[in-house]
Amino acid sequence: MKQKRKNLVILGSTGSIGQNTLEVVRRQSARFRVVGLAAGRNIWLLTSQVEEFQPEVVAVESESLALELRKKVGKQVKIVYGESGYQTVASWKKADLVVSAMTGIAGLKPTLAALNSGKDLALANKETMVVAGALIRKMASQTGSRIIPVDSEHSGVFQCLRGNNKKQVKKIYLTASGGPFFRVPLEELPKKTLAEALKHPRWKMGRKVTIDSATMMNKGLELIEARWLFNLRPEQLEVLIHPQSIVHALVEFVDGSILAQLSQTDMKIPIQYALSFPERWESPLPYLSLAEIGSLEFYPVEEKRYPLFNLARRVLEAGRSFPVVLNAANEVAVEAFLEEEINFGEIFQVVEYCLEAHRPRYLKTLEEILETDRITRELARQFLRKRGKER
Ligand code: MG
Repeated sequence: MKQKRKNLVILGSTGSIGQNTLEVVRRQSARFRVVGLAAGRNIWLLTSQVEEFQPEVVAVESESLALELRKKVGKQVKIVYGESGYQTVASWKKADLVVSAMTGIAGLKPTLAALNSGKDLALANKETMVVAGALIRKMASQTGSRIIPVDSEHSGVFQCLRGNNKKQVKKIYLTASGGPFFRVPLEELPKKTLAEALKHPRWKMGRKVTIDSATMMNKGLELIEARWLFNLRPEQLEVLIHPQSIVHALVEFVDGSILAQLSQTDMKIPIQYALSFPERWESPLPYLSLAEIGSLEFYPVEEKRYPLFNLARRVLEAGRSFPVVLNAANEVAVEAFLEEEINFGEIFQVVEYCLEAHRPRYLKTLEEILETDRITRELARQFLRKRGKER
């Protein structure tokens, strides 16, 4: 039986997840048609993606970039730009599945636009769930959109939950590699350089998430993401350090059984699952050899080593507007670290400062979320400017 091709939109097509998604599509080309792409400023890569996949619509960040792209690609592709452009692509009529893989809060509005138009969503943008989890759940249940996680740990949980009664889940465990600083002496941590923080031992990822892995803020954000994706209570969510990064998640049931999901550390595996769901397809990657790996280790999270993870854990429990503040302050701090304006230890100080200054409230609308995000970013930048002058 010949299956209908799935029409895909990829938001964030030039980023790490976007490129991996297109790699999966390339290998399964009979199953997909790419109808829309959205990217930021990487016109060079976007041009080659447009030439190869021939989408109907493409969005870039600004009008000038749209004009630049116009000169490079054929007339048949529609080019849009800016916030409204991203929303146009996200809600493109022909799309069956939207891959949400823009980095940071920039992905929020397009993701909501996709859900609002009833599209199924392959969600890689964890910040979206962190800041607007309640809103997203509500919108998806209204329009009937399915949300399929792309993040490897959440894909693991999602797979372990299939065919089981969610009411019988006791706990879920997300694993963390521990990042590049899992074994360095604690007193050396604050002075770690950008180059050292960018050397992730297991995963090849974008710069922002690689830094978040070194601080383990990434795992904190993932806990909050999991809380909303799977509708669990904070006390049901745990993290285990697992340096081999072979087990991505474990689900413990009330009868004492634990199911785990294992695979190679390659994002193409969870991406392909999100695209093939509810089916499974052959993988072009080498299969896992447990005999070769030999042993799998698990450790508790050492609190002193990962102070940002502890902040995130507290934010998970405190709820309300705190996750928005956590995410915004962290984005500003990580940007500053990537620009080498602050040192590794100062990422924590920025985030802690913003959380302490914050007066929590319930955020019900997108506008309220974005306003809290904006105010927090301003506060974080003020803190950084003051810090800069003191030097
Ligand atoms: Mg992850």
